[in-house]
Amino acid sequence: MLTTEFAPLNIDDEARKEQARLRAFLRREVAAGSFDPMMSSWTDFDADFSRKLGREGFIGVSLSKEHGGGGKSFATRHLVMEELLASGAPCGAHWMAERQSAMQIIRFGSDKVQREILPRIVAGTCFFGIGVSEPNAGSDLASAKTSARKVDGGWLINGAKIWTTNGHKTDYLLVLARTSPQGDKRHEGFTQFIVDMKSSGIEVRPIRDINNDAEFAEEVFSDCFVPDDYVLGEVGKGWDVVLSELVFERAGPDRLLTSFQTLQALETKLAKKGANEGTREIGRLVAHLSTLRQMSLSVSSLIENGRPANLQASLVKDLGAKFEREIPERARELVDFIPRRGAGADAFTQSLTQSVMRAPSWSIRGGAREILRSVIARELGLR
Ligand SMILES: Cc1cc2nc3c(=O)[nH]c(=O)nc-3n(C[C@H](O)[C@H](O)[C@H](O)COP(=O)(O)OP(=O)(O)OC[C@H]3O[C@@H](n4cnc5c(N)ncnc54)[C@H](O)[C@@H]3O)c2cc1C
Repeated sequence: MLTTEFAPLNIDDEARKEQARLRAFLRREVAAGSFDPMMSSWTDFDADFSRKLGREGFIGVSLSKEHGGGGKSFATRHLVMEELLASGAPCGAHWMAERQSAMQIIRFGSDKVQREILPRIVAGTCFFGIGVSEPNAGSDLASAKTSARKVDGGWLINGAKIWTTNGHKTDYLLVLARTSPQGDKRHEGFTQFIVDMKSSGIEVRPIRDINNDAEFAEEVFSDCFVPDDYVLGEVGKGWDVVLSELVFERAGPDRLLTSFQTLQALETKLAKKGANEGTREIGRLVAHLSTLRQMSLSVSSLIENGRPANLQASLVKDLGAKFEREIPERARELVDFIPRRGAGADAFTQSLTQSVMRAPSWSIRGGAREILRSVIARELGLR
């Protein structure tokens, strides 16, 4: 029988205390009108809100004090992320930097970059995007064509990246580029670069989605100079650097809770209607969420203990994406719903409309489901 390990994560008192402190802070913020829980999500970019979280010590909670972080456990970090997501807080500005870039900089970044960038990430004043996908390289990332050529003191980047979440608003982009021509081994010859978006030689164009929101962007690089200190990891080993980043990216609570606001609002709406209408369905969804949560917590435990987690992270992302997409589907079956946005529509209708339109993209971002399933099969030794 094929099995895989999902180690339990111990939620300590400190984690629960920090969660309670954050919950109280978020309640005050909602009361002060700083965000509307029904109308925002973790990809919404609000630099002021991220700064506030940074001031309160809610960013980089598990990074070591030496790196400017809170020095707390991964359980604390997990609960902080969950609380932000469950409250519908607009965390898109700092999310990528906190979720993965900071960890990657600690593992692979030069001393200069660590000193310069990490304290700003923790302060909620420095934002990152992920620049891996290209117009002709998404699932098949090894066919990426963006290149970097060695010059005196650094590298010149040429090429294009696409679908970069908040790429038109971030301070830095982690760019995967070819530093030697493709040979027989397609995954060799890549290098990761930390690109300052203020550099010359970058053209950034926001892309509008079906909601008419510009949540992502494309970037074109023309002889964009990146200093040597801003290479992330070893030259030529960029593929391994990217793979290690995917574990952070794929199994966090953000892969389960994107539509949590809709689930909560649905429960309230059905409860107001009386009787037991929909109760069974809500119970089923909550039970499912509870299991997924345990799985996601256990990936945090594996990462904290330096254990491999690629298989577990891919499983959580695959099942989580299916779950996130199911919530708006069930909601529209259980309540009278005519999609509407803007003035005249109540918050639930607006929020559900937004979720219904965005949901198809949730199982594509961070790696499409078919690709995750092939990773899972490979990790289980099935192919
Ligand atoms: C909301 C959103 C945010 C994103 N944010 C970022 C970001 O910040 N940074 C970034 O770099 N990228 C980002 N992406 C891009 C994302 O990673 C890619 O869209 C994704 O990897 C799929 O690549 P593609 O769009 O080129 O589709 P394709 O690779 O062309 O895939 C199209 C379809 O074909 C299927 N398919 C492809 N190959 C196979 C195969 N071998 N076997 C079976 N099926 C296959 C796929 O599963 C998918 O269903 C984002 C995408 C979305 C939707």
